Amino acid sequence: MTRSTVMERLAILADAAKYDASCASSGTTRRNSRDGRGLGSTEGMGICHAYAPDGRCISLLKLLLTNHCIFDCHYCINRKSSNVQRARFTPQEVVDITLSFYRRNYIEGLFLSSGIVKSSNQTMEQLIEVARILREEHDFRGYIHLKTIPEADPELIAQAGLWADRVSINVELPTESGLARLAPDKNGPRIESAMGSVSTAIEDAKDAQKRFRKAPRFAPAGQSTQMIVGADAASDAQIVGKASTLYDKFALRRVYYSAFSPIPEASAVLPLKRPPLMREHRLYQSDWLMRFYGFAPGEVQQATDADGMLPLDIDPKLAWALKFRERFPVDLNRAPREDLLRVPGLGAKAVSALLAARRHRTIRLEDLARLTVSVKKLRPFVVAADWRPTLLTDRADLRARLAPPATQMELFA
Ligand code: SF4
Repeated sequence: MTRSTVMERLAILADAAKYDASCASSGTTRRNSRDGRGLGSTEGMGICHAYAPDGRCISLLKLLLTNHCIFDCHYCINRKSSNVQRARFTPQEVVDITLSFYRRNYIEGLFLSSGIVKSSNQTMEQLIEVARILREEHDFRGYIHLKTIPEADPELIAQAGLWADRVSINVELPTESGLARLAPDKNGPRIESAMGSVSTAIEDAKDAQKRFRKAPRFAPAGQSTQMIVGADAASDAQIVGKASTLYDKFALRRVYYSAFSPIPEASAVLPLKRPPLMREHRLYQSDWLMRFYGFAPGEVQQATDADGMLPLDIDPKLAWALKFRERFPVDLNRAPREDLLRVPGLGAKAVSALLAARRHRTIRLEDLARLTVSVKKLRPFVVAADWRPTLLTDRADLRARLAPPATQMELFA
């Protein structure tokens, strides 16, 4: 059997890595210039963008070490029962590719994941070996994000954190029943236990660094996880609840939500249709409400409908405000920051600017217009020096007035 070239394997393993959402740019339309017309592509794989701890946007080589896998997660194109073309790199090959891309200035770091070959420990050892060679033998100072395998021994996961900037362990599905049905080889408590060990190691390393300047760093960019949305019957309320628990228990930097997309030769237990991408977007918005806007998970869940689903036509902050109209209108000249953050359409930056401005002058509606995209959305929820909504906030048709107009669905989409 002829061994495929590095380029052929790179094409397979970079393509296989695109299903990981941790640094994805989903939601856009598919375009490419393979027919010789135009320039660029939204479908390419191999290099993705992520944000470094200092806020810079960096390019990462996004790759699997191998797409062979002994597990059979139904939602995964690389599962053992899938009929995809398989490929595999050695750790040294991944190191060589990373360094050559780095030297050509294509990338600033590496995002490395893998299917599980032979055993979780053996695979984890190979992932660690890539990071070790890069750091120890080549003094590589670029960004490294390692996906870790929760079934591997905790000592191996701990080693990963010594070389990588960020480690992540995918929680995969929001409910135990979903995990048991769709990823029968995975184990929820084991995944959470691995996340707990990483979280403790991160805290211990931070603590040690305060006391000893040369104490080793451990995953200084923290840990993250990913949840697949729409592959099982979990509602948005359940997903929000799960995400909030994970943030609290493991001090995660990010929970990524990945709308399940039907894969070629999909397992029969999966839904035939992908969930609307807007659902993923609404979940990210609800995530921001909890992380930056002071919403408790229970409050975000209050924005859902009777089935526990966030509305798709309006954002969760507006949905919550429409349900709790007694909390409005909020006085822009007197309300505390936490109340201003509840106003639909008012972002965290706009609130800071508003608080700074009102130290010097009285806020009028025109001041708000300079800070936000749409004053129309805000008017029913605020009081300004020259504006009071009177009965507007209580109108029965307020939702219809604020929701974007319905659009005709595309017949052939
Ligand atoms: S462990 Fe599951 S999700 Fe990961 S590569 Fe294997 S089949 Fe895919």
